[in-house]
Amino acid sequence: MIRAISYLQSSLRPLRSRSYTAQASSALREEVKLSVYRDDEYADVDWDKLGFGLTPADYMYEMKCSKDGEFREGELRPFGNIQLSPSSGVLNYGQGIYEGTKAYRKEDGKILLFRPEQNATRLKHGAERMLMPSPSVDQFIDAIKQTVLANKRWIPPPGKGSLYVRPLLIGSGPILGLGAAPEYTFLVYASPVRNYFKEGTAALNLYVEEEYVRAAPGGAGGVKSITNYAPVLKALTRAKDRGFSDVLYLDSIYKKYLEEASSCNIFIVKGKKISTPATKGTILKGITRKSVMEIATDQGYQVEERAVPVDELMEADEVFCTGTAVGVAPVGSVTYQSQRLQTSEICRKEFKTGNDSVCEELQKILVSIQTGFMEDKKGWVTEIH
Ligand SMILES: *Cc1c(COP(=O)(O)O)cnc(C)c1O
Repeated sequence: MIRAISYLQSSLRPLRSRSYTAQASSALREEVKLSVYRDDEYADVDWDKLGFGLTPADYMYEMKCSKDGEFREGELRPFGNIQLSPSSGVLNYGQGIYEGTKAYRKEDGKILLFRPEQNATRLKHGAERMLMPSPSVDQFIDAIKQTVLANKRWIPPPGKGSLYVRPLLIGSGPILGLGAAPEYTFLVYASPVRNYFKEGTAALNLYVEEEYVRAAPGGAGGVKSITNYAPVLKALTRAKDRGFSDVLYLDSIYKKYLEEASSCNIFIVKGKKISTPATKGTILKGITRKSVMEIATDQGYQVEERAVPVDELMEADEVFCTGTAVGVAPVGSVTYQSQRLQTSEICRKEFKTGNDSVCEELQKILVSIQTGFMEDKKGWVTEIH
């Protein structure tokens, strides 16, 4: 074992920057099987400096599917570039969806996943929408487990972040006329991460976007299609350049109802009532959103999924965002320049954050369950070996 580890360490590092070759494949496949790290071994990462950048972990998982629609022969391989035809479906027509989940290292060294079956079923629904075959729920969960365990030393120490796991399903086969790709590839890679926003755990300042919309009824806003993200970059970058953390999108028809932020869902709190926009195909059905709604109900809040007019922000006590990457993130302010009201007036509303906030109460419970601090009575956490 020890020999295998040192071989791995000396052989894999240089490979990571090169593109992958078929020759290296079988030799390294053998090494992956031998790669048993000591439980207390960590990758060489400055855990206190982690943000949400890519720090690729050693291995990724790959599984292909051809015309029969069945995925098979998935395997781990060193993280590295993949080969694609210039005419692949994903490059030309954006046929691709992704997922995001996290693995946590518990105080006693155990490795925990949070509701991976939810990601598996969401990927399946997304794949149907984008006319793609998808791995089964079991195949998906197995791929996540293998990827996390092979990259165990990249899981941050307790309290210092988590291993972000990124499953990706793409139309990898070549196609010229508009249509579904003839071959699909399911990939899973991983990176240790900590806070998503540069604000760290400080409150976010959101900007209500009125020019660009994120999704429209009948579109693909309700699934994690890769095609939903490049179109928001302009609004997001513009807001960031003005000092905001993220953009809050409005519905595409009335420009009146809240939708969500670029990569997270939104909640507003008024007294004991917590509201979040209903998901009707334009909003991503966040697993964190769903979990927080359940926790809030358990805590005695009245939780409502409904159309939330942007004007309700003006009366809200608190606002917060939820997502796997962002966690439960407090919103300190929302800025809104209402063109609907035909004034150029800019209004900025501030919200309660910090100690004794509802956001913090819910955030603490969720994190405690995810990291194994609190007993999981809901069957949300899976321990993997
Ligand atoms: C991924 C994502 C979310 C959050 O979903 P989680 O399952 O909680 O991670 C929310 N909105 C968008 C647009 C997303 O892409």
